[in-house]
Amino acid sequence: MDFELTSEQQMYQRAVHDFCAKEIKPYAGEVDQTGEMRWEAIHKMPTLGLTGLQVSEAYGGVGLDTLSSAIAIEELGWACGSTALSLAAHNGLCCGPISNWGTDAQKQKYLPKLTSGTVLGSLALTEPGAGSDLAGGVQTSAIRDGDEWVINGSKAWITNPRFAPVIVTLVRLNKEAGTRGFGMLLVEPGTAGLTIHPPEKKMGLHGSPTQMLTFDNVRVPADALLGEEGRGFHQTMQTLDGGRISIGALSIGLAQAAFEEAVRYAQQRRAFGKPISEHQAIQWMLADAAVEIEAARMLVYHAACLKDAGKDFGKMAAMGKLKASEVAEKVCHNAVQIHGSYGYSSEFPVERMYRDQRLMSIGEGTSEIQRMVIARHILREMASI
Ligand SMILES: Cc1cc2nc3c(=O)[nH]c(=O)nc-3n(C[C@H](O)[C@H](O)[C@H](O)COP(=O)(O)OP(=O)(O)OC[C@H]3O[C@@H](n4cnc5c(N)ncnc54)[C@H](O)[C@@H]3O)c2cc1C
Repeated sequence: MDFELTSEQQMYQRAVHDFCAKEIKPYAGEVDQTGEMRWEAIHKMPTLGLTGLQVSEAYGGVGLDTLSSAIAIEELGWACGSTALSLAAHNGLCCGPISNWGTDAQKQKYLPKLTSGTVLGSLALTEPGAGSDLAGGVQTSAIRDGDEWVINGSKAWITNPRFAPVIVTLVRLNKEAGTRGFGMLLVEPGTAGLTIHPPEKKMGLHGSPTQMLTFDNVRVPADALLGEEGRGFHQTMQTLDGGRISIGALSIGLAQAAFEEAVRYAQQRRAFGKPISEHQAIQWMLADAAVEIEAARMLVYHAACLKDAGKDFGKMAAMGKLKASEVAEKVCHNAVQIHGSYGYSSEFPVERMYRDQRLMSIGEGTSEIQRMVIARHILREMASI
């Protein structure tokens, strides 16, 4: 696999980097403290395609390849964890399924709005009693009543619902049919019976709203079904495979940002008569961080390239997400360590990055689930040797 970015990809990376450096990174602390997304920046994102990374141009997006999209999310992660998470969810978890399985009418209805930079989309899978085990645990159900679906249940830990014109919602349509009994429904906030609860109070990612939803006899039209009846679980797994590339990329961005802060600080701070960057213990932390970030980046880019080549990318996406999220944790930990007490202060961005990265080994499949996915692939591959 060749990871040399094309000149087009390099130009796109530079453009997104410059945009993030100007419009997002300087405000990341404010976003964290106020818990409010900086919409002024999001309104400008469509010019770079950031609100429709892989949506076709016919519906307002820029139809990028997976690698370019991953690079964009990496840059957003470098600038601000909250903004990056909301944009990753919007692109990969909401625009993605609608692009992949929507009818032309559904795409016409939602994608131009979703790519406009005025809203952000949402995907609701997780429930109070079901996260890793969606197949066994999802209780939210929809039953057919004439030409409508009637939804009852609740969803938890959902990113962006308060910004969304539509929430892609995983429901059980047939309890007897196991993983073949699910569907995805397009639910519009404002529909009677749907309550979007106040944002959760979280450790980090304060600007990215995470909310609970309750469905009390919520009625949506029959044509709100996204994709095939009974294929909702399969569609979810496919969506999460792609989402893992995104979260891997976001983790690399966060790690890169913390690493840069650590290098800068180590060159300024003096102890025992010289900059701390001249102490070997600090140099080793910096060297390890550089190696690990690059290794994680290669895995995530590899997964993106496999996806772009139409090859099976599930194992590599899980490997990339696992590695990148664990690297982000280690690099942010050491960046705080290098800052000493100042790293423990909210005056310094590494404190925010350390909190923000913690989600990356939990969301879109925990590290334990990534290891399970990787092991399943390995055992299947080895069985045929
Ligand atoms: C900030 C944030 C944003 C989120 N955004 C969204 C969103 O937009 N949409 C959405 O649907 N969800 C979202 N989530 C939910 C997230 O995807 C889930 O929290 C995650 O999948 C884990 O599920 P859980 O919390 O129910 O943990 P559980 O599944 O209860 O797991 C608890 C622990 O048990 C371990 N475990 C579970 N099963 C196994 C096993 N078989 N083997 C070994 N260990 C196991 C897990 O790894 C974990 O350590 C978000 C969560 C957060 C915190």
